[in-house]
Amino acid sequence: MIIIENVKKIFQTKTGNLTAVDDVNLKINEGEIFGVIGYSGAGKSTLIRMLNGLEKPTSGKLEVSGKDIASIQGKELRHARQKIGMIFQHFNLLWSRTVAENIAFPLEIAKVSKFERQERVQELIQLVGLEGKENAYPSQLSGGQKQRVGIARALANNPTVLLCDEATSALDPETTDSILELLLGINKKLGLTIVLITHEMHVIRKICQRVAVMEDGKVVESGDVLEVFKNPQTPITKKFVGQGT
Ligand code: ATP
Ligand code: MG
Repeated sequence: MIIIENVKKIFQTKTGNLTAVDDVNLKINEGEIFGVIGYSGAGKSTLIRMLNGLEKPTSGKLEVSGKDIASIQGKELRHARQKIGMIFQHFNLLWSRTVAENIAFPLEIAKVSKFERQERVQELIQLVGLEGKENAYPSQLSGGQKQRVGIARALANNPTVLLCDEATSALDPETTDSILELLLGINKKLGLTIVLITHEMHVIRKICQRVAVMEDGKVVESGDVLEVFKNPQTPITKKFVGQGT
């Protein structure tokens, strides 16, 4: 369960204060796929970055799997973060490491033994369908395959939550579908909670159960995907529905 309560993030910039996330309240259930949709600058990445402690809220409360993520630090925070996987638009792979070495990286940090690492990497390679690519370098992979490496790496330490920041935005429609199907399969198989942010309607429609619509740092509408999109209440949601797909 993820609880976001009255969360605000204000950045101090040269031109003054900028409120990136403005009093957001959300509850995300265990095992659900929750979407956050909004245009560029809406505050989606800032919100998701706060969920894994990459960014601290200016005020409010963030609880992930029972941990008050904004107030813990040091070892406790590092440990909590191992249970929160994250994938990115541009994959953020280590280019000088092979596929297997990329996937093993978080296991090395968690001080998992070499033998266990090898076993776990093999399991993960199978889970994401990258058999035969163990020794390839990221530069030798397609975009979809790179994201599969990203997913395997994010799952290495058996997280309870997977955060996806525009994870399919750099991919073509077909590859997007195959990655979304993989995420759906992983959600079913492992029961982990997925928070997915995007500016694309069809991504939400395809795999999310509930959605929050963000504009100017605020959640302007949220609820069951079918209901929100069938009966949009705000101009911005109407715009997204107008995208059609
Ligand atoms: P996109 O779809 O383009 O990724 P987003 O919804 O993810 O957009 P954020 O990256 O969360 O939006 O940014 C929200 C606002 O906060 C923007 O106005 C952005 O410029 C600002 N912002 C984000 N990070 C910082 C930072 N580190 N310092 C100052 N301002 C920031
Ligand atoms: Mg973003």
